[in-house]
Amino acid sequence: NPDAFENDPGYPFLAISREMKAAATSRPFDSKKNCWIADPEEGFVAAEIKETKGDMVTVITARGNEVTLKKEEAQEMNPPKFDKTEDMANLTFLNEASVLTNLKERYAAMMIYTYSGLFCVVINPYKRLPIYTESVIKHFMGKRRNEMPPHLFATSDEAYRNMVQDRENQSMLITGESGAGKTENTKKVISYFAIVGATQNAAGKEKAGGGAKGGTLEEQIVQTNPVLEAFGNAKTVRNNNSSRFGKFIRVHFSGSGKLAGGDIEHYLLEKSRVVRQAQGERSYHIFYQIMSGFDPKLREKLQLTNDLKYYHFVSQAELTIEGVNDKEEMGLTQEAFDIMGFEDWETECLYKNAAGMMHMGEMKFKQRPREEQAEADGDEDAKNAGICFGVDAEAFLKALTKPRVRVGTEWVNKGQNLEQVSWAVSGLAKAIYARMFHWLIRRCNKTLDAKAMERKYFIGVLDIAGFEIFDFNSFEQLWINFVNEKLQQFFNHHMFVLEQEEYKREGIQWTFIDFGLDLQSCIELIEKPLGIISMLDEECIVPKATDMTYVQKLNDQHLGKHPNFQKPRPPKGKQAEAHFAIAHYAGIVRYNATNFLEKNKDPLNDTAVAVLKNGSGNQLMLDIWEDYQTQEEAALAAKDGGGGGKKKGKSSSFMTVSMIYRESLNNLMHMLHQTHPHFIRCIIPNEKKQS
Ligand code: ATP
Ligand code: MG
Repeated sequence: NPDAFENDPGYPFLAISREMKAAATSRPFDSKKNCWIADPEEGFVAAEIKETKGDMVTVITARGNEVTLKKEEAQEMNPPKFDKTEDMANLTFLNEASVLTNLKERYAAMMIYTYSGLFCVVINPYKRLPIYTESVIKHFMGKRRNEMPPHLFATSDEAYRNMVQDRENQSMLITGESGAGKTENTKKVISYFAIVGATQNAAGKEKAGGGAKGGTLEEQIVQTNPVLEAFGNAKTVRNNNSSRFGKFIRVHFSGSGKLAGGDIEHYLLEKSRVVRQAQGERSYHIFYQIMSGFDPKLREKLQLTNDLKYYHFVSQAELTIEGVNDKEEMGLTQEAFDIMGFEDWETECLYKNAAGMMHMGEMKFKQRPREEQAEADGDEDAKNAGICFGVDAEAFLKALTKPRVRVGTEWVNKGQNLEQVSWAVSGLAKAIYARMFHWLIRRCNKTLDAKAMERKYFIGVLDIAGFEIFDFNSFEQLWINFVNEKLQQFFNHHMFVLEQEEYKREGIQWTFIDFGLDLQSCIELIEKPLGIISMLDEECIVPKATDMTYVQKLNDQHLGKHPNFQKPRPPKGKQAEAHFAIAHYAGIVRYNATNFLEKNKDPLNDTAVAVLKNGSGNQLMLDIWEDYQTQEEAALAAKDGGGGGKKKGKSSSFMTVSMIYRESLNNLMHMLHQTHPHFIRCIIPNEKKQS
């Protein structure tokens, strides 16, 4: 049968072949002798026990070396029938050596998916495998997990079937470190659901919206990604296409499992990249796509020269990515915009804003010796920025150099020094970008909101950065690690609930142990009142507070009192300086508190915002600031609040970054708790980006 799964080109990358099985069963094996011992190069190496004396064993390794070591350092080897096993939960001996060897041997045979109980583990192949084709998808549709070899599609199909049969929302949590393959797998999952959901009925295949532009809902769900990647991904040292934001994509279905739309929620966009790039990295792809010359008139329209290096904000490190053609990528971005039904003015404004930021980075200011106040040094770049943003350059510059600030009950224009001005410029550029990204997500959601269809259930796919333990860990790592701590707790708790259900079914007597509680103490240290984040928020409103007064207060509150709060051990070798350490479930992380207050307050020059917000001829610029209330506006609103009642709620300028993050994390956790979760763990095979 030519249509049989065995004949699919993807089959050899998924299923254990007859030869492999034969090789495994013919392997000599003696459970009393065969074992694994640690090896500095291979991780673990096979060995055979020669003799045992008290607590010590002497073994001969596969390489012929004789080694004597403690008994417990020789880990049991599993019988041959478990070679390249598809689910590691089946192993007789569940030790580190067996798990790693199994993953390694499967990876060597390019079988990248393996189950580990509730988890589907995937190791980045760094090479295109024929395992995501439409024909493979068809083989997995409607099949149970145990009928098919391990695959992300098996997990996806399980989620889909659970949704339809149990009438319950589902989620897929895809985690792992940078470069491990989260986003690639997310894309495959989304395509799978789009195809499965559209196959149920012709509706998903119908052209959505109307008008000349726009694709089918199925296409649109898939094409959301290139749009988001252009604005939210960048080359980093670890990954040429690193997502610098987290996302939760919900694919909505009708009660009978028909595709009915989608929406996206995003988390923690890395704003600093817009003005600063580290060695070996780039800013967001879109800047280089705009500069690529794909559309020969675009640069001119945006007042840009064709010299990328001129624009400091985007040219501090790398300018190109090996193997990536920005011109072609721009073509794909535009195609995605078309399928998503973006109007010309919308894409034009997105490009204008991006270009405006590049011009902003070139605005020069000067400060005469012995003077306190900076002033503009030439206005050409400000004019270019002004044209892109649709604002008056002079007003813009004046706002940056002499913002209106409150003195007592008066509002006056106050001069700024050079450093203050340059902070304001980069702060504003970052805010414009972040707000533009937020707008982009909302705009995609508008397209994916297929109004005519009933939404009954959803499958949410979470693609979010995994635990980060770097040499230098800052505010960003604290938040990423906190989110991961929460997700791990969620997993442990889910696992516990499932176990408990099984015990109940089998009538076993048991005592409750919620493994999620193992992480509770660290989570409380971070999130509770008087915890690390609350104290940071408080320090942000204390006059004259600094990062170090914050660290001092943390130490007074927690050092020696909370088991998860520790003094950072003195730097070994070249390790960066740190101010406190947290014992996370994944390890101890040393944090450096420099700039924590600034990053959390994330101040903006309100006067410059007012220029963009009120005077702009660029519709997108108006839209992105619409919900922003400047302090002066807030003060005014409060004043006539008594009579007019025009108060708009809390001014966004009073919210700290942590408050915003906390709210979105709470929403995410709340949503996840209402779903049946499925877990994917991505693993990076090496640091060389090689198969
Ligand atoms: P980050 O946290 O930095 O966003 P990530 O976990 O999302 O990282 P990806 O961008 O998904 O990582 O993967 C990095 C690169 O690895 C991809 O650009 C691609 O080249 C390769 N890759 C990952 N998974 C696969 C796969 N299943 N097949 C082929 N290539 C893959
Ligand atoms: Mg990613």
